[in-house]
Amino acid sequence: MRPNRPVYLDNHATTPLDPRVLAAMRPWWEENFANPHSVEHAMGREAEDAVEAARAQVAALIGAEAREVVFTSGATEANNIAIKGAARFAASQGDGRRRVVTLATEHKCVLESVRDLSAEGFEPVVLPVGPDGLLDLAALRDSLADAPTLLVSAMAVNNEIGVVQDLPAIGALAKEAGALFHTDAAQAAGRVPLDVQGMGIDLLSLSGHKIYGPKGIGALYVRRRPRVRLAPLFSGGGQERGLRSGTLPAPLAVGFGEAARLAAAEMALDAGRIAGQRERLVAALNAAVPGVRLNGHPERRVAGNLNLTFPAGTDAQALMAAAPEVCVSTGSACSSAAVEPSYVLRALGLPEAEARATLRIGIGRFTSPADVDRAAAGLAAAWRRLAAARAPEPVE
Ligand SMILES: *Cc1c(COP(=O)(O)O)cnc(C)c1O
Repeated sequence: MRPNRPVYLDNHATTPLDPRVLAAMRPWWEENFANPHSVEHAMGREAEDAVEAARAQVAALIGAEAREVVFTSGATEANNIAIKGAARFAASQGDGRRRVVTLATEHKCVLESVRDLSAEGFEPVVLPVGPDGLLDLAALRDSLADAPTLLVSAMAVNNEIGVVQDLPAIGALAKEAGALFHTDAAQAAGRVPLDVQGMGIDLLSLSGHKIYGPKGIGALYVRRRPRVRLAPLFSGGGQERGLRSGTLPAPLAVGFGEAARLAAAEMALDAGRIAGQRERLVAALNAAVPGVRLNGHPERRVAGNLNLTFPAGTDAQALMAAAPEVCVSTGSACSSAAVEPSYVLRALGLPEAEARATLRIGIGRFTSPADVDRAAAGLAAAWRRLAAARAPEPVE
């Protein structure tokens, strides 16, 4: 590690690779590089066995069977296959239902997938959330009663504000209405328990690099009983039961499997340690900066998320620039290149000025107490400098 390495508190954007995951992957880069579909020879069969063991590990994390797990390049692809695949398959069977329901605070890849479907004659419905970031179940019930609905897509844990949606309740409403239930669980895996049976989930998306695994791999859970049918997005060799053609990256699959195994084994341990670091950071920031406010429901949230609005007048971009030794963000990584304030915070009802005064802090498995202390000191000092520069000159 570089001695003056910045403190990394952006674990929602991506997590570092767990060294144990790297160790599990190494032989599949260095020793056996075979194509796991080359089952005519020994090296290929060995790679296939490793991929299948990884599939079982990913399945175990969500209470699924191995054959219900389809490997993809990440959660973006899994969300696209789930939403577009379900809608297109239903339409191809003459299903007359057109409504696809989702939430205003979803990841862009879900919102855009749902919106893209309107060009194919589907009816996207984007439900609002309350000021705490949680879906109003009555609004979902009304939407489901209003028109026959194909699919409900509701994320498990939000990537900006960390709130945990009530998946069992949403799943039950979807099922009652005869709709499929998809959840984007990229931020939930390894942080809150996930159980596709108990939560009534038909389709669930995962990402390797959000659970201390490698980038470039994810998975889609596709229920088999009763069977959920999807139209694939890719044409090709028919890998992954025809749902996702393309050569499986065996090293990434192995790493994803090991990351899933560790996530399941260490979830409670991680959550406890991370909650302790969060409290340490909150206490230090509260002592230094008056009136910092937490966004999102105060209890129904994951341990590592702090979405904090700083006092009026704060510009979060300027604050980050003034504290370059701390890696945090102002919103989701994909949209933060634009100067637009977070649409998630706007959906909670935050005025634009408050959204622009907000930082997303993501504490992770490898965040140390020393990291927290350095980050709090750096942010507090930067905030004081900016506030002093804004204050009018004292009158003599
Ligand atoms: C990161 C993330 C994604 C995208 O995952 P990739 O694997 O990077 O494609 C989707 N949804 C949520 C909630 C995320 O946090």
